Amino acid sequence: MSQGFSGGCLCGAVRYQSSIDPQIVGHCYCVDCRKSSGTTHCTHIVIPEDAFAVSGEVKFYDHPADSGNIVARGFCSVCGSPSYSKNSGMPGMIFPRASSLDAPEIAKPQMIVYASRAPSWEIMDLALPAFATMPEGGPQEVVDG
Ligand SMILES: [Zn+2]
Ligand SMILES: [Zn+2]
Repeated sequence: MSQGFSGGCLCGAVRYQSSIDPQIVGHCYCVDCRKSSGTTHCTHIVIPEDAFAVSGEVKFYDHPADSGNIVARGFCSVCGSPSYSKNSGMPGMIFPRASSLDAPEIAKPQMIVYASRAPSWEIMDLALPAFATMPEGGPQEVVDG
């Protein structure tokens, strides 16, 4: 049974609620994720947008990914904390940041993408499937096997 999850920014101005559990969770070590994260990578959750509700003012920074798709990275206009993103190549899906979860235990990572961009000193979980860039067919295919 799906419990859903909730999250928000550091100051509390942005809050969100998902009615379903994370469908896909992965670490991404691409340069954009690193630069926007405060650490070496982002941990993203993937869910359908219609399960997701947000309150508060989210600002978006649009930047093209390697694929040419535009990734809109949402952050709080007050405290700057990243909350979720959208990707023009995956319409109808939403990517909450695991860092913004109220209870991060629910976001158990299943894969690593853009592993080739990680610094050599990063300690990655060797038990997870790792892809040098984005896997052929995208993250859904990895989970579906
Ligand atoms: Zn905030
Ligand atoms: Zn990334």
